[in-house]
Amino acid sequence: MLNGIGNIAYLGASALFILSLRGLSHPTTARRGNVYGVTGMLIAVLATLLIAQGAGLEIVLAASVVGAGVGALLARRVEMTQMPQLVAVLHSFVGLAAVLIGFTNYVMPSVQLGGTERIVHGSEIYLGVFIGTITFAGSIVAFLKLNGTVSGKPLVLPGRHLLNLLVLAICFAVGYRFLTAASSEDGIRALLEMTVLAAALGVHLVMAIGGADMPVVVSMLNSYSGWAAAATGFMLSNDLLITTGALVGSSGAILSYIMCRAMNRSFISVILGGFGASGTTSSTDIAGEVVPTTVDEVSAILRDAADVIIVPGYGMAVAQAQTTISEITRKLNGFGVRVRFGIHPVAGRLPGHMNVLLAEAKVPYDIVLEMDEINDDFASTDVVLVIGANDIVNPGALEDPASPIAGMPVLEVWKARTVVVSKRSMATGYAGVENPLFYKDNTRMLFGDAKGSVDALLKQLDA
Ligand code: NDP
Repeated sequence: MLNGIGNIAYLGASALFILSLRGLSHPTTARRGNVYGVTGMLIAVLATLLIAQGAGLEIVLAASVVGAGVGALLARRVEMTQMPQLVAVLHSFVGLAAVLIGFTNYVMPSVQLGGTERIVHGSEIYLGVFIGTITFAGSIVAFLKLNGTVSGKPLVLPGRHLLNLLVLAICFAVGYRFLTAASSEDGIRALLEMTVLAAALGVHLVMAIGGADMPVVVSMLNSYSGWAAAATGFMLSNDLLITTGALVGSSGAILSYIMCRAMNRSFISVILGGFGASGTTSSTDIAGEVVPTTVDEVSAILRDAADVIIVPGYGMAVAQAQTTISEITRKLNGFGVRVRFGIHPVAGRLPGHMNVLLAEAKVPYDIVLEMDEINDDFASTDVVLVIGANDIVNPGALEDPASPIAGMPVLEVWKARTVVVSKRSMATGYAGVENPLFYKDNTRMLFGDAKGSVDALLKQLDA
């Protein structure tokens, strides 16, 4: 009876997770999507307790209280700019959980299986621990890279593809030993050996990916964490975990594909890594002069304009300049200036990063346009205001075949009559590539923290 109710609840939770994903696909429905997701998860936890019929209730409740406490604290403390790191850490938790459950399942099996069933269950455990370890190790490296603790440059070891293949082949061989192990000691030894190899593979796979390819890594690890959860579902014979894991795994894979397409990269070449390694351009190779500007001058240029496009990037998130930018937009609209926003698919440090910030600052959705929707309009635009963006507006990606980011589509802001770039210095962006935009004749550099600059600009527009 309890099992029946639990299973119906699982079905309800799965439906809510699907509705949640659907809701999260657009800013107007994202809030509702979140509510669906939270409700689904609550039902899932309660149903699991119901199905377990009280077994280990104290431990689950204690773990839930600790987990909810840590989660709430993290959510309150984390800055919007640290979100990518938080996501990477959360992915690593899913991987670690899969590994721990895999080992526990092997050491303390709930039922003794024999023959084919034993092989199938053993394969589930082996696969779960394998994917879980890669997810865990890869996510930790992604966290360190996003945090700037480890350099964003790709680690290109000689013969690295062969090395990966070799590790994979050894994992297969160890897997055979694991499945045919005569004693549980032998099995554990094989499982441990594979865990060490998979950890090395996870570290190497993400270390090899550099520069502008990191967005794909983040969504790829999201996908891996889903498959790790699905594998755990098979180990525990938990249908909801299998469904949810498959949902996360496939949506992460689709997102990775979309990001690859946006960056004009093939999924395979991203996985193989090495992109962004061959940077040769230095500031001395770039022709032209850097022309600094002032808030007064920018204010005058904007007042005179008929058409303005604002391009936000990671620096806007760091400076938390979005609210003032929203006010500047309203002010300029008041002067009769048309203002729109151009969003690059990999702007910031998370897919949709800029959209979230602009929505939070109450910028209307209908003036926030994707790269494909706005790229042809720059040539007929009077002023482009680039706020803390760098890689996503780098003309070198299109003009310089030797550029480490050659081939990546960018917002072609330099085609506008005037481009104003707000940033603190001449420093490079995430990919570590020099940007010829800053040296173009029609570019003016507004140096300083973006929040300070746009606050002063708003004041000047008010005067
Ligand atoms: P970039 O990292 O290329 O550039 C951001 C610029 O902002 C820097 O050059 C910096 O220059 C400036 N900046 C930093 N702080 C401030 C501040 N307080 N005020 C003003 N400016 C500031 O960002 P983009 O958004 O242009 O490009 C995103 C990059 O991140 C791409 O390479 C992308 O591949 C990568 N990435 C994206 C992810 C995603 O999912 N979206 C995930 C991981 C990586 P200065 O120091 O001179 O101020």
